[in-house]
Amino acid sequence: MNGKKVLLVTGGSRGIGAAIARLAAESGYCVAFSYVSDEQAAEAVAADIKARGCEALAMRGDVGNEEDVLALFQAVDYKFGRLDALVNNAGVVDRKSRVEDMSLDRITRMMRINVIGSILCAREAVKRMSTRNGGRGGAIVNLSSIAAVLGAAGEYVDYAASKGAIDSFTVGLAREVAEEGIRVNAVRPGVTDTDIHASGGQPDRVRQFAPFIPMKRPATAEEIARAVMFLLSDAASYATGAILDVTGGR
Ligand code: NAP
Repeated sequence: MNGKKVLLVTGGSRGIGAAIARLAAESGYCVAFSYVSDEQAAEAVAADIKARGCEALAMRGDVGNEEDVLALFQAVDYKFGRLDALVNNAGVVDRKSRVEDMSLDRITRMMRINVIGSILCAREAVKRMSTRNGGRGGAIVNLSSIAAVLGAAGEYVDYAASKGAIDSFTVGLAREVAEEGIRVNAVRPGVTDTDIHASGGQPDRVRQFAPFIPMKRPATAEEIARAVMFLLSDAASYATGAILDVTGGR
């Protein structure tokens, strides 16, 4: 193992997570990432990381499943022997729905992946990074959403609530580990051009929302990834508990 820093990004096979993985490799990180289903996409991202001269680890696993999370972190331990940064990026939306029509299964899945998954991964990262546990410190960035502020009424209030939880978690964990060499921040993207919208049954969502965004366009995944990389970097060395809106003014 060389002296390169190691980043773990959850949900790195496409969208914002893949953009973070590629940018991190360009910044010299060794990159581990997880995905759930799209092995081909994961292999392509791993190949891009390696093409940038960095080591890559792609691992299948559901962040909302504790066994998978433990296996993911153990794989990082085994391959790299260190962890310097975590990006809690994996997240899901669901079909457009009013709250009164939401099933328990839907709400549970949303919270399990978006909230519990992020907390479990942060728990494992803190165990390894905290100077209190003999670690060398590190940085965590959580992917929230401007939906946490706007509420996503009539669309997916459960998703908005899950991201509100991420905002609170970011502030609380940041304060809890501030003395232990770990910074914890969040990025709150606005509408970003990825496949997440199609996965929620709204493939045209980006186009439909564009006129309502002050900048009149969605973000690219890379524009969100750059904000994440800033918060991970030493340029943000005094930022912790911060939530950075990257929304084109929305
Ligand atoms: P995306 O294009 O749908 O990609 C999601 C990624 O997460 C994929 O790599 C997917 O793997 C993985 N994933 C999904 N469920 C997972 C699970 N249970 N465990 C592990 N990995 C899982 O999403 P995105 O648009 O890039 O969004 C990334 C983050 O930004 C999310 O937290 C999202 O809520 C947030 N965000 C997005 C937007 C937006 O407009 N796009 C706006 C605000 C916030 P597979 O490829 O294997 O399915």
